[in-house]
Amino acid sequence: MADHYSLDVRQYHRVDRVEGGDGDFRVHTVDRSNASGVHHARKLVIATGYYDLPNYMNIAGEDLPKVAHYYCEPHPYYDNDVLVIGGKNSAAIAALELWRHGARVTLVHRGPAMHKNVKYWILPDIENRIRNGEITAHFHSRVREIRARTVLLETPNGVVEITNDFVFALTGYHPDYDFLRAIGVQISGTDCRPYCNTETLESNIAGIYLAGVIVAGARTSEIFIENGRFHGRQIAANLALKLGSGDRPAAGVSQVS
Ligand SMILES: Cc1cc2nc3c(=O)[nH]c(=O)nc-3n(C[C@H](O)[C@H](O)[C@H](O)COP(=O)(O)OP(=O)(O)OC[C@H]3O[C@@H](n4cnc5c(N)ncnc54)[C@H](O)[C@@H]3O)c2cc1C
Repeated sequence: MADHYSLDVRQYHRVDRVEGGDGDFRVHTVDRSNASGVHHARKLVIATGYYDLPNYMNIAGEDLPKVAHYYCEPHPYYDNDVLVIGGKNSAAIAALELWRHGARVTLVHRGPAMHKNVKYWILPDIENRIRNGEITAHFHSRVREIRARTVLLETPNGVVEITNDFVFALTGYHPDYDFLRAIGVQISGTDCRPYCNTETLESNIAGIYLAGVIVAGARTSEIFIENGRFHGRQIAANLALKLGSGDRPAAGVSQVS
């Protein structure tokens, strides 16, 4: 897609702050070698998602190097005791892959069972592995503390200490609200939804649009790839109106994502 439309994508540039206003924004970035840059744009679309910031459990040992909040691949964990924390898709997929590649997997979830929204082709697989005792599951349970070689679990049967080599805390992620607030985007309600016009997706800051899952605030499961991709059409229609659909309608637009 980026190649097809000759999009000017600046990968590995983090947007630190935004200055200016509608028609004349200055977007300050830092690249992976820590070099800073400034990009000018008449309009901005912020589509920063939610995956960069994990929901921390704030428990002792969470900062140990054996604890990860992202799961990549199973092979390094063969013949190791791995704890997966969580009860949704990420936890189910990680637990199954790890088990299929020879890890001894324990899953801990505070709910009574795997979440009902786990994808329909994954849910029976994880439930059957648990039923067969191939993956040990503790429901209605929480992790109290992560230690170098063990983990303490609070279960309905009391505190249990299990042997442990690695922990995947797949407890969800949240949008960078501070980033949005720093730009001036209003966030309200318990769902932390950023303000935006439902038709145009323009935020309360003129010239700044929101796209993708951040439109849903904390309700990250409401917008996904299939429906979030239509935000572009809404924003483009409004940009065409405001900038004119003539010579260079969106050429000066920077997308923050
Ligand atoms: C494990 C997992 C599995 C999923 N599986 C599916 C699935 O099967 N089907 C489906 O439809 N959806 C799935 N989703 C949801 C889907 O990934 C998201 O809904 C979708 O990616 C949201 O798109 P987005 O463009 O809003 O944000 P993202 O795709 O998250 O893109 C946001 C980008 O902005 C970047 N960014 C953030 N802050 C800054 C900054 N300050 N400066 C510069 N860049 C920044 C981020 O690094 C990221 O690259 C899954 C999500 C997860 C976490």
